[in-house]
This record gives sequence, structure tokens and C-alpha cells, in this order.
Amino acid sequence: MDIAVFGAGYVGLVTGTCLANLGNNVICVDIVKERVENLNKGILPIYEPGLKELVEINTKEKRLSFTTDAKSAIEKSQVIFIAVGTPQSDNGEADLSYVFGVAKSIGEHINGYKVIIDKSTVPVGTADKVTKHIDAAMKTKLPFDVVSNPEFLREGEAIKDFMNPDRVIVGVGSDRARQMMHKLYVGIERTGKPVIFTDVKSSELIKYAANAMLATRISFMNMLSQLTEKMGGDIKEVARGIGLDSRIGPRFLQAGVGYGGSCFPKDVRALIKTLEENDCDASILESVDQVNEKQKMHIFHQLKKFLPNLKGKTIAIWGLSFKPKTDDIREAPSLVLIKKLIEEKANIHAFDPVAKDNVEKIHPEINFGKTPYETIRGADALVIITEWDEFRALDMNEIKLLLKTPLIIDGRNIYEPDEMKVLGFTYYGVGR
Ligand code: NAD
Repeated sequence: MDIAVFGAGYVGLVTGTCLANLGNNVICVDIVKERVENLNKGILPIYEPGLKELVEINTKEKRLSFTTDAKSAIEKSQVIFIAVGTPQSDNGEADLSYVFGVAKSIGEHINGYKVIIDKSTVPVGTADKVTKHIDAAMKTKLPFDVVSNPEFLREGEAIKDFMNPDRVIVGVGSDRARQMMHKLYVGIERTGKPVIFTDVKSSELIKYAANAMLATRISFMNMLSQLTEKMGGDIKEVARGIGLDSRIGPRFLQAGVGYGGSCFPKDVRALIKTLEENDCDASILESVDQVNEKQKMHIFHQLKKFLPNLKGKTIAIWGLSFKPKTDDIREAPSLVLIKKLIEEKANIHAFDPVAKDNVEKIHPEINFGKTPYETIRGADALVIITEWDEFRALDMNEIKLLLKTPLIIDGRNIYEPDEMKVLGFTYYGVGR
């Protein structure tokens, strides 16, 4: 199939590249000229394991190309993905201006029947609005369908998740669009993965419901971790105990530093807005958001319990991205901690395997280490914010020697409190 993908960010780039790898001809369109020029040179705007290699193979095979020319991409394609950002606007709603910008372009340049796919995360009812924007921009009326096909990939696992998803959700309103979508995903369906066809509005809501449910699980455990910290007990044991219940399952039950990233925070808030606008109760999700904001500050407060005066103290941070295997720092809990440490005039040493450059652009004053060990030399405390695998099996004796005081604030519970005690550390783990 001939496919255009608008937006060459995490979702657009992964979608376009994986569809090219399945044998389609894909043109990725972005409005940022530098991003397109770099992609044409093989330089990717994001770090995502395996993506660079796939982009290289598929551009070489001429199945994948990058452009800023929306008109020719629209004219050449039967299927057009909208995969642009839907950031949070000032009042908490999803900002749909980028989505509508693409819709307008499609209306202006449409030259025959097309299926337009909302892959961006968009509130219920957006497909209708996209239809109106396309209609309004069309000079000559031509047939088209707008389909909802939300994306569930996880950064760091994006290619695997796209090629091997738990399910593909497709919301369609016409048989013609359904047939095109079936053709598009036949390669994935053949591997036994369910492609679920549903109505457009259910599909739009499924995406928000999934993220809101996962965020709720995290905030639920963070809330209980406050109790185990006060009353005793170990939140990891609680998670294990309930996770073995087949009705609950073990995932997304880890207490920690609060969720961040480009999706959960904004999607929870956007769903709250949609519920409120429709006179529905949003109190569960309001609490989920509030618990999360408090949890992001909790690590800082714990550090202050051990070091009440942070002025002039050196604090080492391991992990800056909002989760491992990505360089994405959008709404990362590390940024909340960094801001507080700067306010308190502490010196910050930090290490992250891939997110350093993104943080350095905002905080050039931080002293970045090349290795976890180098970063903690002479530090008054080590705070762990992201659970990169490489922090799990380091030489703890070496760490103790390098730190000025053997204090570890483990925001991800990657170490065991008893073992740390035996090793002579002062150790805090969340809810333990
Ligand atoms: P991103 O910011 O990484 O990329 C968006 C891209 O769209 C940018 O490169 C931007 O320049 C481009 N763009 C903006 N307007 C454009 C236009 N008119 N024409 C062409 N390109 C344009 O965003 P992302 O993380 O890929 O997210 C995209 C959407 O997918 C969002 O709605 C997000 O919520 C959703 N989503 C993201 C993830 C994730 O893990 N990042 C997962 C699932 C869903």
C-alpha cells in the first residue's frame, strides 16, 4: 500500500518504519525541516532500540522516505496516518491544533478516496471534528473516511510492541474503510495477534481508558506505600501478594517516584476534562493525578529527612529519563527533583545512559558523569530515579567507597533493604 504518516516523532516514525518493513511504501511527513533533513541522513530524533537499523534498511530499499512536502505525500497515498503530538493545553485538555492542521492539509490536497487514520491519542469525538476540518478545506467534494486506530506502543519496546502487539484497535464507520484497514494489518493479523474492529468512539475511548487504568494502578500502589512507610510492612510484598491474584495480575503495581512521560500525565488530565465537559464524575482520576504529583515530591522530602540542609551538598542522581530504554524526559520525575535541588542550592551530579543530552539542554549547570561510578564520587547521597538495568548489579562496596556518605535514596526499589543494611548503607526504598 502507499501510505503517508504525518509526524515523524516516536509514534509516527515507528509506525512508518514498521509498515515499510512489512513491504508498504511509506512517506513520513514532518513540519520540522531539520528533523526531515536529519532523517534523510540517517540521524534519528529519538533513541529507540533497533529503530535506527530498521530506518536504514527501509530507506535503502526505497520503501521509506522523509519529506516536508505534505501535498505530494497526500496525493500519492491511499492511507494517511495522523501521528502528530496532542500535548496538554493550559486547561488540561488535549491540544488538537496539530491534528486539525494535518486535517486541513489533507482537505486541501485530497485527490481521490483516502482512509485517514487518527493514530494520535485524541479525545472521544475527535474523528468527527477531523472529518469536519477536512470537509471544510476541500474545494471539490471527494469521498474519504476517518478511522480511529490508537497506538499502545511503549517507548523502549516500540518496535516489538508495534510488530507484536497485544491487540490492534480499529474504530471504523464504513465497510470501505474496514476493508482497507484489514488489508493494512493483515501482516500483523497473520501472526495471530487480534485486530479488533469496533466503532470510532469506543476506539477513541479505549486508548484513554487503557492509560488511565495503568496510571490508576501506579497511584494506587503509591498511595498504599505511604501507609507501609508509616505502619510498617513492605509495599513490594503487598504488590507480589495481590499481583498473584489472577484477577489483578502483577504489572503496573510498583510503587516508586510517580509516573511521567509524554502519555500518562496528559492523557489522565485530558480524560478528566472530557468527563467534566460531559457532566460525568472524574473524581477517581483527579485523585490519581494528585497522588502522582505528590509522589514526585516524596523522594525529595525523603532526601531532606536525611540531609535537612542541602545547600552546598553534592547529590548524585542515577536515571533521568521517565523510564528505562528511552531518552524521553517529558514530565520525567527527575526534573521535579532537579528543580528542587537547584532551589536548595545543592550541587547535582547525574548519570543516564541515553537521556543526558536532553537534560543538559535544559540544565547545563549539572555535572554529568560518564559512568554510574564516576557520578557518585564524593557525593553526599545517591538518588535513583530510573530503573535502568545497568544499576542492578553494580559493585556495592565500590559504591560505598566512592560516596562521601553511604546514603542511598532508591526511588525504584531496585535494591533490597536488608542487604543494603548489612553492607553498611543508610538506605531508603519507597514503601519499604
Ligand atoms: P512527538 O512529539 O514525538 O512527535 C510529533 C511529531 O509531529 C513532531 O515531529 C512534530 O514536528 C510533528 N508535527 C506536528 N505538526 C505536524 C504537521 N502539521 N505535519 C507533520 N508533522 C507535524 O509525539 P509522539 O510521542 O510521537 O506522540 C504522537 C501522538 O501519539 C500523541 O497523541 C501521543 O499521545 C500518542 N502516543 C504516544 C506514545 C509514546 O510513547 N510517545 C504512545 C502512544 C501514543
